[in-house]
Amino acid sequence: MKAAVNSTYKGKLEISDLPIPTVGVNDVLVKIAACGVCHTDLHACHGDWPVKPKMPLVPGHEGVGVIEQLGSNITHLEIGDRVGIPWLYSACGHCEFCLEGKESLCLSQHNTGYSVDGSYAEYCLADGNYVVKIPESLGFSEAAPLFCAGVTTYKALKVSGAKPGEWVAIVGVGGLGHLAVQYAKAMGFNVIAVDTGVEKLALAKELGADITLDFKECVPSEAIFEQVRGAHAVVCTAVSKPGFEQAYKSVRRGGKCVLVGLPPEEMPLPIFDTVLNGVSVVGSIVGTRRDLQECLEFAAQGKVKAIIEEKRLEDINDIFDDMLKGEINGRIVVTM
Ligand code: NAD
Ligand code: ZN
Ligand code: ZN
Repeated sequence: MKAAVNSTYKGKLEISDLPIPTVGVNDVLVKIAACGVCHTDLHACHGDWPVKPKMPLVPGHEGVGVIEQLGSNITHLEIGDRVGIPWLYSACGHCEFCLEGKESLCLSQHNTGYSVDGSYAEYCLADGNYVVKIPESLGFSEAAPLFCAGVTTYKALKVSGAKPGEWVAIVGVGGLGHLAVQYAKAMGFNVIAVDTGVEKLALAKELGADITLDFKECVPSEAIFEQVRGAHAVVCTAVSKPGFEQAYKSVRRGGKCVLVGLPPEEMPLPIFDTVLNGVSVVGSIVGTRRDLQECLEFAAQGKVKAIIEEKRLEDINDIFDDMLKGEINGRIVVTM
């Protein structure tokens, strides 16, 4: 099968011919139709984070396609089912986190396109218990980004604790952020979108943002306090330390700053302001299978739609270059 393989940190990915994986009793083999390109894949290939990915690596954790083979233990799915393979490749199912419905915190989890090979390939192996079915009304390419960007931002908005009618700022309107804006509107929030460039901010406006701010033209936190007295919640998907500083400073008293983006840097937190303002700072990591089902349902009902551009797997190095420069509007999806 054709696959894009990364062999050295910051090296180019190569299109290689790999054997089709063999199905174990708990696995499904998915013939991949499309896979979204997440900034996490770029972090993986660059070895940006303290926990390193397997190497060589087939990245990709927004893969969607059709089940072609089933392990003998997988009885709730059928050959021909349309499914997606999320970042949470598998979890143990019996630790305190799994039992509490917080499987994305499981210490024994595997991650697609990180600790195991992912979906930048014609076929991808998955744990049958952790794939999620795609609603019939959704096409493959539009469904793919929901398996990470969608579920992550939908979950982060739930974690934010914001209520309908409150102000929520989305800092970073890239692959994740452009979906965050839409989920936030669908959940009844007033939305401020922060990023840079006419195209990204125009897209945010089109997707329902009530206020858009260009971080190169203003100081977003100051503008947010001037215009709405601070945000009740902020979801930060920016891949930049200054983005996180601005996100934190945009929260009004008693509000919550939800950290989602993963630049490999520290975020300085002023203790005095955090205490006196009663501000919460919380991390949010992808979502559970149930979050994913809910997030897909929003799209099936037409309330959320990933803005995508389809490219070929062979274009992956150019896609990464554009992503590093911040030049992608919405999500790139590679089709097989
Ligand atoms: P992306 O490259 O598509 O989007 C990032 C956006 O941030 C870009 O539009 C960029 O212009 C913008 N940005 C940069 N600096 C900014 C600033 N100072 N203020 C506002 N915006 C700024 O990336 P993506 O695929 O959306 O991923 C974003 C981050 O989220 C990555 O670090 C990724 O690893 C992480 N991520 C986290 C989770 C999670 O579960 N927490 C899940 C998926 C991705
Ligand atoms: Zn991702
Ligand atoms: Zn567990």
